[in-house]
Amino acid sequence: MTEVPKQDFDTLFAAVDKIMVDITGKRALVTGASSGIGKATACALAAAGCNLILVARRLDRLEEIKSAINARGLKVSVELVAGDVTQNDTFTALDSCGAFDVDFLINNAGLAKGKDQIGQASIGDWQLMIDANCTAAFRMANCVVPKMVARGGGHIISTGSIAGLESYEGGSVYCASKHALHAFMKVLRYETYSKGIRSTVVAPGFVGEGTEFSEVRFKGDKGAAASVYKDMDELRATDVAAQIVWALRQPANVCLDLIHIMPSCQGSATRIHRGGKRSDSSL
Ligand code: NAP
Repeated sequence: MTEVPKQDFDTLFAAVDKIMVDITGKRALVTGASSGIGKATACALAAAGCNLILVARRLDRLEEIKSAINARGLKVSVELVAGDVTQNDTFTALDSCGAFDVDFLINNAGLAKGKDQIGQASIGDWQLMIDANCTAAFRMANCVVPKMVARGGGHIISTGSIAGLESYEGGSVYCASKHALHAFMKVLRYETYSKGIRSTVVAPGFVGEGTEFSEVRFKGDKGAAASVYKDMDELRATDVAAQIVWALRQPANVCLDLIHIMPSCQGSATRIHRGGKRSDSSL
């Protein structure tokens, strides 16, 4: 009988500081990189030494990120693909620059559109959410998985949501789309865990600072968007990006299947304590 290896004290005391794997030189495809969680993730990955392919519709925003990376002298390559992830030509453009041959896919592009109840909601808004949050994200995975299998490894992270775990009034199709994404990711995990591929759902609660999420949901109504976060110490885009990088930097034997990250002041999709910002980190 083989013995289970014992760990020495140096390993135990260094568990958090030294466990993080170096991801320098890895290649990552980040969708929805022009704003919010995707933008913060792109910058965090560049700081960690990853070469990037960034996708979103707004090229000027992507160029700003590339300039900021270059201005910091980070020794990483940055390729930009301006396109709508719901459109075939974006997939053709990505394929032609070899963008599906990556170590990491950060499947993040997505949106909530409208907060109307089912009888009043716009079918067009529903279609947009299903196309971007589901079909495009599923299709990205479909494109990268065969290449990851061929190279014997890879990591796919999708930005899910608390709306993929709970449902709330006014969120019918957004919740449905994120539930579908979570279900898809579970199947992806079942189909690929034996092939060296890791997959993770990062499911945040309210993320405000750094994102345009609520402005998009309320169709440019800045007042309505700001009121979502009123007197609340919500998550920042950087908080979520840090979780994504944390998941990517786990040792080969560890897969974080689901990271459900919530603001401290949010107990569920609808339980929110609006007690202002907390400046200290003590409990
Ligand atoms: P955001 O600031 O609005 O960013 C959304 C990103 O997705 C943008 O870069 C946008 O780029 C891109 N995008 C949207 N539709 C696209 C399309 N059809 N084609 C290409 N790119 C598209 O919002 P965020 O909060 O960072 O959202 C990122 C992800 O987190 C989404 O999947 C969202 O559902 C999820 N999430 C957000 C929250 C939150 O409270 N903020 C909570 C849970 C989950 P362009 O407009 O330039 O194309």
